[in-house]
Amino acid sequence: MGEFELIERYFSRPPRRAALGVGDDCALFAPAAGQQLAVSSDLLVEGRHFLSTVAPERLGHKALAVNLSDLAACGAEPLGFTLALALPRADEAFVAPLSQGLLALADRYAIDLLGGDTTAGPLALCITVFGQVPPGQALLRSGARAGHTLWVSGRLGDARLALEVFRGRLRLGGDDFEQVRLAMECPEPRIALGLALRGIASSAIDLSDGLLGDLGHVLRRSAVGACIELAALPRSALLAAQPDELQRSCLLHGGDDYELLFTAPPALQAQVLAAGARAGVAVTAIGRIEAEPGLRLLDAQGRLQTVQPQGFDHFAA
Ligand code: ADP
Ligand code: MG
Repeated sequence: MGEFELIERYFSRPPRRAALGVGDDCALFAPAAGQQLAVSSDLLVEGRHFLSTVAPERLGHKALAVNLSDLAACGAEPLGFTLALALPRADEAFVAPLSQGLLALADRYAIDLLGGDTTAGPLALCITVFGQVPPGQALLRSGARAGHTLWVSGRLGDARLALEVFRGRLRLGGDDFEQVRLAMECPEPRIALGLALRGIASSAIDLSDGLLGDLGHVLRRSAVGACIELAALPRSALLAAQPDELQRSCLLHGGDDYELLFTAPPALQAQVLAAGARAGVAVTAIGRIEAEPGLRLLDAQGRLQTVQPQGFDHFAA
């Protein structure tokens, strides 16, 4: 199958919102009148961001999910996306389920695949998402203030537990492995929560590189510090049954959670809980923003430790 047949068969559909979708040199679309465009790209490279063992359907889902997660973190409503794809071969047994997983998630948000590029090469997917948000309402990393409560959605650490199994450092039974593997391979973008937190959250970020590292970005951008409580970090029963050290590293440093980390004034606690309920996702208070720079962790024994707000870095020595 040739390049254009592949695009036609697996990546072109009539657009729902855009004026012009796949097939011309550019796509044409506009946000609703008076709204700002929110734009974000994420590149997924085999062996770096996903393992060759991932089912293509899940890979398609995840490539879009991690991009939508960035829109969620900004409180933006998704509109559409482009897909740049490098494929070793035009293998239909791979591309068909890949496009199925990708477009199934797109359908859930009624967003358009606007266009892209397809080339032969080592397997990689780069998606750019477009969303809209009213001016002044985007959730940013820079809005955290001393005294604000620190919140997180969902549960942390299961994706890292799956990675530990893949790396041969941990063994889990079949059902347990499936549970954590699903967390790693099929993250759910928290779009509804991001939208519900507009006007309530003072800052937000999505967790892709581990809690401490991503929290560090918020603290730097907001020029504040924080104290978090290890025992408060939400985790699955499966993770809670693991040795303390493993729990701690999965919760604090595990990547690929794609939950939202956000702050809000304590007076808005009821609104935050209501936003979580409306979005159908648990939200948990895990600590507090403080004026003193740096990151402090209240451990399970009630000791206060200073920790480095360091996350995953592709180029770290
Ligand atoms: P050009 O060479 O002008 O950049 P291409 O020949 O690469 O255009 O692509 C033809 C059309 O197919 C364009 O509309 C482009 O946006 C679309 N397209 C290419 N690859 C993809 C893809 N992976 N997913 C969606 N649309 C794609
Ligand atoms: Mg091209």
